[in-house]
Parts: sequence; C-alpha cells; structure tokens
Amino acid sequence: MPEAAPGCDEFDPNAKTLEQARAAILEVCRTITQSEQVTLEEALGRTLAQPVHARIDVPPAAVSAMDGYALRAADATQGTRLALVGTSAAGHPWDGEVQPGQCVRILTGAVVPAGADAVIMQEQVERGDDAITLQKGGLAPGHNIRGTGDDTAAGSPLYAAGQRIGAAEIGVLASQGIAGVSVLRRPRVAFFSTGDELVSVDQPLGPGQIHDSNRHTLRALLAAYPVDAMDYGVVRDTEEEVSRALTRAGEEADLIITTGGVSVGDADHVTRVLQASGQVGFWKLAMKPGRPLAFGHFGQAHFFGLPGNPVAVMTTFALLVRPALLQLAGRDATEPQTLNARLLEDLYKTPGRTDFQRGLLETDDRGWVVRAAGGQGSHQLRAMSDANAYVVLPRESAGARAGDWVEVLPFREVFPEV
Ligand code: AMP
Ligand code: MG
Repeated sequence: MPEAAPGCDEFDPNAKTLEQARAAILEVCRTITQSEQVTLEEALGRTLAQPVHARIDVPPAAVSAMDGYALRAADATQGTRLALVGTSAAGHPWDGEVQPGQCVRILTGAVVPAGADAVIMQEQVERGDDAITLQKGGLAPGHNIRGTGDDTAAGSPLYAAGQRIGAAEIGVLASQGIAGVSVLRRPRVAFFSTGDELVSVDQPLGPGQIHDSNRHTLRALLAAYPVDAMDYGVVRDTEEEVSRALTRAGEEADLIITTGGVSVGDADHVTRVLQASGQVGFWKLAMKPGRPLAFGHFGQAHFFGLPGNPVAVMTTFALLVRPALLQLAGRDATEPQTLNARLLEDLYKTPGRTDFQRGLLETDDRGWVVRAAGGQGSHQLRAMSDANAYVVLPRESAGARAGDWVEVLPFREVFPEV
C-alpha cells in the first residue's frame, strides 16, 4: 500500500480500505438469533433457526418409475408369457400378491404390489387381453423401482440451522409433511433519505428541487433480503428532524440506513447527530464512489450513513450493507466473486481510492471483455441501468489501458434478483 502522497488529497491516511471497512462491519453485526414459527408459504427466503430431520421415508413405499408391468424378476426371461391379474395406479394400490407367472399393470408412482420386485417398461412387452409376452429378459430385482426412502430416509438429517429456504427446500419440507418451520426473526431495517431539496415522486419539482430516488432504490435493494424494511420517508436537513428520526429508528430497528448528509457541510446533520448521541465507527472510505460513509450505532441499532449521490448509494450498499444484512440474517456473508476481463477502452482514475466504475461485461471469441457503461459520475444513475458489472480499478492505480486485463465484479454477485 503506498504512503499518503503529499499534495494528493485522494490519499487520505485516515480513510479505511474496503477490506478494513468490511471486516469492521462483520465484526459487530451479529446474527439475530430470535426465532419464530412460520408456515411453509412464509418460509421462502428465510433462514432455519433449528436443524430439521426427515420425519418419514420419501417415497413412503416402493413405487414404479415407469408405466409398465410389475413382475417377479425371476420370471423375466425373453418370450415368457405372464398372466395379467390386476392394476396398480398412483393413489390406488393393488392389494393382492403377485405369484410366479403373473404380472400387474402398473403406472408411474403407483405402489409395487407384494410379490413383485421389478417393473418392465410397457414398450418392452406385447400386450394381450389378459396376458403379456416379454420382449426382453434379464431384469435385476429393483429394476425401474424407486425404493422406500431412497430420496430421504426417516430420521436422516435434512437441513442444518442457518440453511436458507429456497424453492427446493420448500418442496422437500412439503414432501415430508412438514407444514411449518422455525426461522430466524427478520432483521428490521429502518431507512430514510435526508435533504431539503428532495421531493416525492408524485410531486412536481420547484426551483432547486429533485425527486427523492434513493429511498426507492433502497426499498428495491432491500426486497432481495429477508428483512422487514421500514420506510421513514424524507427527513429535512435540520438537527432536530434528523435527531428525531434517528432516535425513533434506534428504538425500532436493528439496522438504520440513511442517505445524504454525511459530508462535512453545514447541512450535513447526520454525522453531527451521530457524534452527539450515537457512536461513530468510521467516516471515510478509500473507494469511489462512496467516500463519505458513516458506520456506527444509534440506540440499539447498527447504523449506515450512506452518501447522497445515487450511484454511491447503490455501490456502498452492494459492498458494505449487503454483508451486514446477510450476517444479521444468519447467512454466510461470503465475498462476491470477481473475474478478469480484457478492457476494450482506456479508463482513467486518480490514485488513492479503489474505483468501482460502471461497466458492460460481455463475451467475444477471446472470452470476457468489458467497456465503460455511460457516464461515471456518482450522480449518473442511468449508467447503473446500462451497466451489468463494476470494473474494479485498484487503489494505487491511475487507470487501465485498452487491452489490459482488469478485475470485474458482475452485478449479479452483489445485486441479487428479487
Ligand atoms: P449530500 O451527501 O446530502 O450532500 O448529497 C449529495 C448529492 O446527492 C446531492 O447532489 C444531493 O442532491 C443528492 N441526493 C441526496 N439525497 C438524494 C436522494 N434521496 N435522491 C436523489 N439524490 C439525492
Ligand atoms: Mg444533503
């Protein structure tokens, strides 16, 4: 890591690197261990609070994997004629016992009758009115049969605590007749925008005003996590209003996210209120976008004071809020995976901060290639829509040239789909 370069204010000796910030955040954001019982419908996306064991064998009985004929494997020689003595359909077992020289018509998912130990496909027999003739022989016992418990055996461990419940887990639990599970309580996340210039989306703009986009972005980002999002609206740039909102959030939430007001300007009250009544973790990050960022505590809640610029909001959320949310929710906050791509154009930066430029990642006949996607200003949110990845330019670098290999962080790694 280079020394702070005199005369170059991008090198701020007090600024934390992204890795340091991440480590500091993960150190304090402990998993919320309170649990609650939910139905299967409510369990999607949640985290199991306790291990789950299989209650029953699935399948509960040996069933046919095909439409065909259940028989004794010992009878299965080519050309043998077997008397057809019954039918076993799914949900309608045949309750007799198959004797030597006999077979039973069987459909997929139907219980294999007593006495039978193999199923021959219907395509491999010649069907008469009350008998079949085998066109194929040499069936081993168990042929085309799904054995009792061969998916899950009763009593076997299904899932450990901490397992995320996705579509497959919901299906497995349902197949076990498990109608509800104990999951971790969702972290409560309060969020608000700060700024006197902000107007809601349904109001026309007056002089000097802009629409409040950050709060909508945050709500959309939070929708991909198992959290209870609490929208506190827009808070004006006064110490009293910021203090009131933070006090309420510090009582109601596990995590607070604000946008704007974390620089050192006259209207930046978030930092002041946090310094006066909360605890400040750190202020400055050696990343771009996203330098002024506050992390700390207010009341009983962890606190993220994100910058006001919309691209900085998304980027700091992706890199720092995301791991905090995952860990609070009991998930692994594993590092997102980057890849290397060949750069298609020159990109410039000032040494001192790690740059997350908005890029368009594609493949050509040589593999991954990446170019800049639109304007790189931290206010140019449109470029986030045009981009699908960050081009990560190292802290000490002055950019990269066309043809260089660069590190790329695909958006799918940090912006999960809802
Ligand atoms: P601040 O950090 O409060 O000085 O804000 C930095 C920049 O982000 C300013 O140009 C703000 O107008 C803009 N900004 C702050 N909050 C929002 C918001 N909620 N939606 C859109 N832009 C915002
Ligand atoms: Mg502001």
